[in-house]
Amino acid sequence: MDFLTLFAIYVAVVITCMFLVCKYSGQPQSPFNTLLNYLFKVVASFTPQWLQRLSQRTLHRLFHQRSNLFIYVHILLEGAVYAEFTYEVFGFCRDMDTTLTSLSVPYVLLVVKTFIFYLCIKTDPGTVTKKKVSSQLHIYPYDRRLFHPGVSCPTCQLVKPARSKHCRVCDRCVQRFDHHCIWVNNCIGAQNSRYFLLYLFSLCAMAGAISLLTGDMLLHAVLRSGLLRASYIDEYGQQQPAGPLFVVQHLFLTFPRVIFMLGFLVFLFFVLGGYALFHAYLALVNQTSNEWYKSRGHVCQHCHPTAAADHLCSPVPDHSKRYYYSRGLLRNLREIFFPLKGVQKKGN
Ligand SMILES: [Zn+2]
Ligand SMILES: [Zn+2]
Repeated sequence: MDFLTLFAIYVAVVITCMFLVCKYSGQPQSPFNTLLNYLFKVVASFTPQWLQRLSQRTLHRLFHQRSNLFIYVHILLEGAVYAEFTYEVFGFCRDMDTTLTSLSVPYVLLVVKTFIFYLCIKTDPGTVTKKKVSSQLHIYPYDRRLFHPGVSCPTCQLVKPARSKHCRVCDRCVQRFDHHCIWVNNCIGAQNSRYFLLYLFSLCAMAGAISLLTGDMLLHAVLRSGLLRASYIDEYGQQQPAGPLFVVQHLFLTFPRVIFMLGFLVFLFFVLGGYALFHAYLALVNQTSNEWYKSRGHVCQHCHPTAAADHLCSPVPDHSKRYYYSRGLLRNLREIFFPLKGVQKKGN
């Protein structure tokens, strides 16, 4: 396979992964998704009606109904990365005398991450139920800005506790609702926000550790090959140094799978790193991403479901109440890792 074909496949795979990660791990109202929705509309105007209906049905089934599909995709991608790392990078690094301790870091992280991933999937995020609702109502006070007393969920027929939201994918109200994550096929709420945060950081650490070891391997491969000192004769008969493009081509053709993997992992590291930092920030200020978006002027519980998507709450949002639930950095963090229980009455 020539360099250009390989590079085209590589770009297509990386862009597809970028698309999947950005669209389905984030929030529906992000600027990226707004741009994607606009692009979808443009493409739809050239697509026959039957194909549009079919793709809408398929997308709805995939992304708006509970399904383990993305958990399997996750495991498959992880399996592919670890198989490649073990098959090509591990042996090469052992030949370069990289210590076994350094090489075992990705495997230790995999065990830790898998355990946290399991907890994130299996833990009830804090479903509002008939039995628990009376105690859940006392966990947080209503800020009377985003959450108002006496509002019932039309689907669950239960009074909504402050900070809760109905998840349309899971068809239930969730206490301290953050968002629904398709990658864990679960809502992220009061009881599993801690696992979600740890999951994001452990995934970043995994991607970072494998990227560093792989980068080290490629660097040694280039140094060993002597390509940095190589030269070629150009069309005018002049001797030219090989240059970085030559080195990149050589690496692409010698280690195509390793380069694929490294590109994917570096991208994942930065996207997930940003996302993990965003969630760490939210944990420190005691805000959910649901509240963060609402605070930016999206539909409020008070006005839902009649309000338009660009509707601003009336009266005009009071920014002094933006971090209404914040109780100081340490107490906010404690609340993430030791969620408040229903019986605990929280003062204002
Ligand atoms: Zn509900
Ligand atoms: Zn959900």
